[in-house]
Amino acid sequence: MRTLVGIGASPGIVIGKAYVVHSESFRIFPRRLTDEEVEGEIDRFKEAVAASRQEILVVKEAFLEKGHSPDLTEIFDTHIHLLEDPVLTDETIRRVREEKRNVEFIFSQNVEAIEERFSSVPDEYLRQRLQDIQAVSGRILRKLLRKERQSLSHLSEKVVLIAHDLTPAETASMDKENVLAFATDVGGRTSHMAIMAKALEIPAVVGVQTVTQYVKNDDIVIVDGLQGTVIVAPDEQMLNEYQVRRERYLESERLLTQLKDLPAQTVDGHIVTLSANIDLPEEIGSAVGHGASGIGLFRTEFLFLNRTVPPSEDEQTETYSQAARLVSPDPITIRSLDIGGDKLLGSDVRYQEVNPFMGCRAIRFCLAHPEIFKPQLRAILRATAHGRVRLIVPMVTSLSELRRAKAMLDEARDELRAEGIPFDPEMPVGVMIETPSAVIIADVLAQEVDFFSIGTNDLIQYALAVDRVNERIAHLYEPTHPGILRMLKLVVDASRKAGVSLSICGEIAGDLPLALVLVGLGVRELSMAAAAIPEVKKLIRSVSLKDIERLASRLLELSTGEDVRAEIQRTIAQLVPNHKDYELFTWART
Ligand code: PEP
Ligand code: MG
Repeated sequence: MRTLVGIGASPGIVIGKAYVVHSESFRIFPRRLTDEEVEGEIDRFKEAVAASRQEILVVKEAFLEKGHSPDLTEIFDTHIHLLEDPVLTDETIRRVREEKRNVEFIFSQNVEAIEERFSSVPDEYLRQRLQDIQAVSGRILRKLLRKERQSLSHLSEKVVLIAHDLTPAETASMDKENVLAFATDVGGRTSHMAIMAKALEIPAVVGVQTVTQYVKNDDIVIVDGLQGTVIVAPDEQMLNEYQVRRERYLESERLLTQLKDLPAQTVDGHIVTLSANIDLPEEIGSAVGHGASGIGLFRTEFLFLNRTVPPSEDEQTETYSQAARLVSPDPITIRSLDIGGDKLLGSDVRYQEVNPFMGCRAIRFCLAHPEIFKPQLRAILRATAHGRVRLIVPMVTSLSELRRAKAMLDEARDELRAEGIPFDPEMPVGVMIETPSAVIIADVLAQEVDFFSIGTNDLIQYALAVDRVNERIAHLYEPTHPGILRMLKLVVDASRKAGVSLSICGEIAGDLPLALVLVGLGVRELSMAAAAIPEVKKLIRSVSLKDIERLASRLLELSTGEDVRAEIQRTIAQLVPNHKDYELFTWART
């Protein structure tokens, strides 16, 4: 038996059989060929090139069928040209004949040499071609090695998934019926893999560092998403203990559902709106079931992941309209595409960056890709005919960026008007406050938007310079850092002064002790994973606003994160008599 400690990313306790997913990387070893093997090896290579070419053509066709402009398919043509480039192919064949070594080895050496030459050229255009070469060579290598990225949707047994890493798209494709829980080596509490797990209500522990080292297929494991532990090969006593804990947890969850229709009202009568974050429209049922008052954040990225071409305007219109109808009469806040960071568009190397969280992400990507941004804006506008839709723009760092996004929205409005397509011209527009610059100019931004939502997941990473997905520095990711509390206060004050509404949609909104602190600081809407709503509601219903406002003022006077956590803990122990229920001091504990 071995207990591994990680970060509890999604609550719940599961006991099950492990299934280990191996990570994708090309491990290529040289192998000598006999004279007889040489021509067969070359045929294998030619087949891989032909299959890659066919694959690219299929993707291109699908792209055109979706009605995309032919200029956008240029990339596919470039890739096909590359496949036919003698430097990439003929040279490989020549060397296989000459050196009599396996083709994947020769080919990857060949590609490395080309990469080296390209990476040193000063010309930006040529350097860009390097990415095309990597895309094409990766495709051929996958064919040669018969490697396809494993799909998680093929699982047909109930398992606990163990992986080094999972992309948010892979997490989104998990079938809750079969993936009972998962644990990964890497990842932080606010990585999108973790957020997705919470949304799907799949218990998860991330950032364990050694889970793939110690767990083998078919091992019995306990995943405790509350404590953030994974127990490998538990002994009888541990199994019994966890059976009891699991029952207790499920029972407390059942009791909480009774609060579903009660308001999140403090004992002195102040109401807090609790709404849900969703990643996929299918989560709306769960949001409503947990008593959400609307959708405070619809992350639209997941509609774009796990596919080779973006969804068309009509497809998006249908999705957003349907979502708006389901949530009606409550509002739904739809976020424009926040691609980048840990949510990359497929394996297309055009979008890969060394430092993606600081790169061409979210609004930056959208402004650089009007062919993707405009149809999304049109679709969101069209959905306003079906419910109370609001638009929110992520990762804004300046007023100019906001204005450029709004100018694009104006264009979309003008077009729809000219086409006679109905929409609400008054659709509220907001910005995510998730960069330190947006905090500092919140007063300026407030003049040109209808509402703010603070994305603390990013705000904390950008303000404290702590990568949100890096488990090695998870202890530095401190929502209770005095710098963060002061930033939140700045935004609360700016929004009040300008009369724009404010919510918080980062993960801390669903964290029990921190939710109280946020309300104490003056926030009146919290948007969180649906499953967190009942417990946060229960906690809010057990305190008075006066008391938590006092707590927030005291916290603003403190100098360190440790002091802030100690004060929160001390106060909650006093204010909430049965505080033992609130063992989930997750953030406060890190
Ligand atoms: C945030 O940054 O807090 C947020 C809600 O957005 P995301 O987690 O999708 O980056
Ligand atoms: Mg964010």
